[in-house]
Amino acid sequence: MHITFVGCGDAFGSGGRLNTCFHVRAARSTFLIDCGASSLIGMNRCGIDRNAIDTILVTHFHADHFGGIPFFMLDAQFNTKRMRPLTIAGPPGLRDWYARVMETSFAGSSKTQTKFELNLVELESAQRRSLGDITVRPARVRHAPSEGPFFAYRIEVDGRTLAFSGDTEWVENLVEIGREADLLISECYSFGKKVPFHLDYATLQANLPRIKAKRVILTHLNTEALAQIDATACEVAQDGMTVEV
Ligand SMILES: [Zn+2]
Ligand SMILES: [Zn+2]
Repeated sequence: MHITFVGCGDAFGSGGRLNTCFHVRAARSTFLIDCGASSLIGMNRCGIDRNAIDTILVTHFHADHFGGIPFFMLDAQFNTKRMRPLTIAGPPGLRDWYARVMETSFAGSSKTQTKFELNLVELESAQRRSLGDITVRPARVRHAPSEGPFFAYRIEVDGRTLAFSGDTEWVENLVEIGREADLLISECYSFGKKVPFHLDYATLQANLPRIKAKRVILTHLNTEALAQIDATACEVAQDGMTVEV
């Protein structure tokens, strides 16, 4: 599979990076993992054909991961004139969040009938589910005092495994999600400093030997972590970076 880091920044635009959005092109399926507020800008920069995207998989409903959905939908309706079906999948509550974010962003848009089939799929934690040619298994992670829910994903496509931590502090679920994955994309919000509900490099590094992922790429770095990139032993994502897995 071919992965483009459309955006790998945090909610604050640290380092001038765009919000989280990963574009994955597999043999028979193309999908986004998260669609943060700036994703349409990033996809235009990268020359990504939005109409070729079958599925948008979201980890949680924070605007830097979900806030690009209204722009994607308006673009599909009025700009790219999408006709192919689209699936948006994410944690329970997705249908309510979708209506709220659409209506808040563009009044009336939540009631507009799309010219294409739109499937909103609420995934259940720990339950494998097929979405077209990809299989996803969500696991709950911890990213706020509330229940969220917040998901990490283990995704199987083309006989390869891609894991993404989403935003979270360290939880044991991450071991199963990332176990021996061909690629683990992990949040590394801070370097040495512990920030509640986020992952820091020291904690991640201590646990990577248990996960045994074949390749690890760090994402969602804050300014403190960005200043320490040279001290990390892992690859660090950059906007526009592409990798083959
Ligand atoms: Zn975030
Ligand atoms: Zn978040």
